[in-house]
Amino acid sequence: MSKRVLIVGGVAGGASCAARLRRMSEAAEIIVFDRGPYVSFANCGLPYYIGNVIADEKKLLLASAEMFRARFNIDVRTENDVVAVDRAGQEIEVRRGATGEVYRERYDALVLAPGAAPIRPPLPGIDLPGIFALRSIPDSRRIKAWIGEHKAKRAVVAGGGLIGMEMAENLAQLGMAVSVVEMLGQVLPPLDPEMAEIVQRHLTANGVALHLNQAVAAFEAAPDGTLAVRTQSGQALPADIVVLALGVRPETKLARDAGLEIGDRGGIRVDEAMRTSDPNIWAVGDAVESRDVVTGEWNVVPLAGPANRQGRIAADSICGRSARFRGVQATAVCGVFGLTVAATGANEKTLRRMGMAYHAIYLHPAQHAGYYPGATPLHMKLLFSPGGGRILGAQAVGLEGVEKRIDVIAMAIQNQATVFDLEEAELCYAPQFGAAKDPVNLAGMIAANVLRGDVPLARWEELGAGNALLLDVREPAEFAGGHIEGAVNLPLPQLRKRLGELPREREIMVYCGVGQRSYNALRILAQQGFKVRNLPGGFRTYLQFQEQLAAGKSASGRSAGPGAGG
Ligand code: FAD
Repeated sequence: MSKRVLIVGGVAGGASCAARLRRMSEAAEIIVFDRGPYVSFANCGLPYYIGNVIADEKKLLLASAEMFRARFNIDVRTENDVVAVDRAGQEIEVRRGATGEVYRERYDALVLAPGAAPIRPPLPGIDLPGIFALRSIPDSRRIKAWIGEHKAKRAVVAGGGLIGMEMAENLAQLGMAVSVVEMLGQVLPPLDPEMAEIVQRHLTANGVALHLNQAVAAFEAAPDGTLAVRTQSGQALPADIVVLALGVRPETKLARDAGLEIGDRGGIRVDEAMRTSDPNIWAVGDAVESRDVVTGEWNVVPLAGPANRQGRIAADSICGRSARFRGVQATAVCGVFGLTVAATGANEKTLRRMGMAYHAIYLHPAQHAGYYPGATPLHMKLLFSPGGGRILGAQAVGLEGVEKRIDVIAMAIQNQATVFDLEEAELCYAPQFGAAKDPVNLAGMIAANVLRGDVPLARWEELGAGNALLLDVREPAEFAGGHIEGAVNLPLPQLRKRLGELPREREIMVYCGVGQRSYNALRILAQQGFKVRNLPGGFRTYLQFQEQLAAGKSASGRSAGPGAGG
């Protein structure tokens, strides 16, 4: 293949495409253009560079233009901005940063990998000095310089998503008082609210001032040269530095101007081979829309994993190989003050919006054998279809072992596996690493019990509705330490002897600490002819739901599709 391949953007998607192309073809002429000063840098490391966790800036540079030249015979042109695509003539127009001179280059194949730009809403004061967004190494340098020069002590992070959380942690790491302002009622939108609740408590415990349900309305300059972030409710949050982490928007200007098809989600439309609506142009990474593995919807998932895989697939496709991108499932992980938060697949919010039927279960096992020192709880939520038990999504939060479980489930989701597969998965075990029944197995077992009809589920939002008896089967001391209002305490060890105290005509909703004792209780009661359902995840899950239930939010939002359960 002696094609001339031009690549716009030289970071995750563009760089992996270029390197793969060379491995597939020694004959291709490959030129990579990037408007920035670097290619192949670690954007994911930037928050940690700001927090001095990564001390040496050079560590962020994964490859240089010289390395691309020497190792791959690839011409990398940094500070060269591609400003137009002439599809008819198969040429691009490039502006050289140093001189401003505009030149043209011909292509046989063009790859667009321009990424996504941080959202900067046109709010009053958004361009004031001291307000930053983070995308590149120069951005992080500017942030570090500002913090140093202004001896910044108070930071406001606007946006509670993945980058917002990482920035909050790293700014706090520098000794700053950090506030996070988030328009939604929760941080980390990939999670459902009751899972985000764990993260919110942890943030607060670590001194972060959380302002949920608060949209930023304006930025103001105080007379002493500091800033204030004004929220729509009128609150003014003082700041020495503001970091915007309000999400990203696919960079589609080139594609739009060239008349390429853009999807409803705002990304460049591509087929499974990453080819755009023009057969000579491919697009990859944060700029594109892909099909969601679970819902089948078009989705924009701005993460490094998909960008890298797509870059490779585009290269194969350009070389005439039949490569196919399987789709995105938004598998993501984030560290928040020592806590690990991870998710894959659809969350409950999405399933509801799509009208897809689902069951949701919760579990809180230890991340490894309880008897081995250092066991800590792993809070998990699994979503699966009531029909065949297909796994639809999972979320987990804990101090350790979180991402390993979500990664296993991510693979299962991509392979259309069911909860019965999780039940049977053979996973590695020694006491310091897991459990003979790994949390992934446990999730499969709990879900399979539901589908086999052995453990009918109640939903948390059903609490207080109807006239079910709420039965708490924990020990009296636990009950005294906190229980759900209106619950009756009958400890599991006494249950068989005291069945006569329970009503046969009335439904019973049973719960315990985390769901294990209530499972045993339910099996006793069900076999004795009682009408009984389990509240999944027990009192631990109730604590996560408590605020939502009190606010009445949950009931309005969680009416799932047919066959759904909580
Ligand atoms: P990018 O990596 O953004 O590269 C696009 C490049 O194209 C840029 O260098 C840009 O300058 C250049 N460009 C754009 N337009 C032009 C043009 N017209 N001409 C020339 N050059 C152009 N993802 C994760 O999975 N995990 C993480 O932990 C994670 N952390 C992140 C932390 C931060 C602070 C940021 C900003 C992102 C993070 N991401 C993370 C997201 C991840 O970095 C992106 O998904 C990934 O880099 C996307 O790759 P890309 O090639 O599509 O775009």
